[in-house]
Amino acid sequence: MTTLEFPFRTGKVTIDLEKCRGCQSYACVEACARFGGNLFKVEEGLPVLIPSVEEAGRRCIEDLACERYCQDNGNKGLQITLKMFGLDEYRRKVGLTRHGGHT
Ligand code: SF4
Repeated sequence: MTTLEFPFRTGKVTIDLEKCRGCQSYACVEACARFGGNLFKVEEGLPVLIPSVEEAGRRCIEDLACERYCQDNGNKGLQITLKMFGLDEYRRKVGLTRHGGHT
């Protein structure tokens, strides 16, 4: 799987570029231009980052619009993974953690 991935403050964006090859809308590019930091452009039929990976992570405003637009209007190639701050501590507190840490 060929992917484009970049981290931002509270998570990461992962794009499966194989799915983008069949995309007609490039909805992620539109979403980021309309609501976000205008981080993407289309190059040779695929979405690419305009800034560097590091700069994209800093400029991302975490509006999550790229994922919503991709899922609704694109080819479902883009996924956002969010960090769950405090989840481990909460699970320990309520007794949901298995011995040795993560469940
Ligand atoms: S909208 Fe989704 S499938 Fe289409 S180019 Fe963007 S990330 Fe790829």
